[in-house]
Amino acid sequence: MKAMDVSVEIHCETCGSANYSLPDGHGDESPIRCNDCGAPQGTIGELKAALVEQVFDHSAEALRRDLERLLAARL
Ligand SMILES: [Zn+2]
Repeated sequence: MKAMDVSVEIHCETCGSANYSLPDGHGDESPIRCNDCGAPQGTIGELKAALVEQVFDHSAEALRRDLERLLAARL
């Protein structure tokens, strides 16, 4: 199975930076902070949830394309 080509970019809501440091421990409750301005950016758990959501959206889109190809092939 081909690896999914999914990338998630999160940007600081305060300064727009994409630099983050993930905290040690990686527990779901660990806070993520912007490297540039130090603003809190939610938790590891929230980031994971956002990743799952993006993967799900990506899969749904791929399924839709497969379905369209199948339907087109039958015409
Ligand atoms: Zn920032």
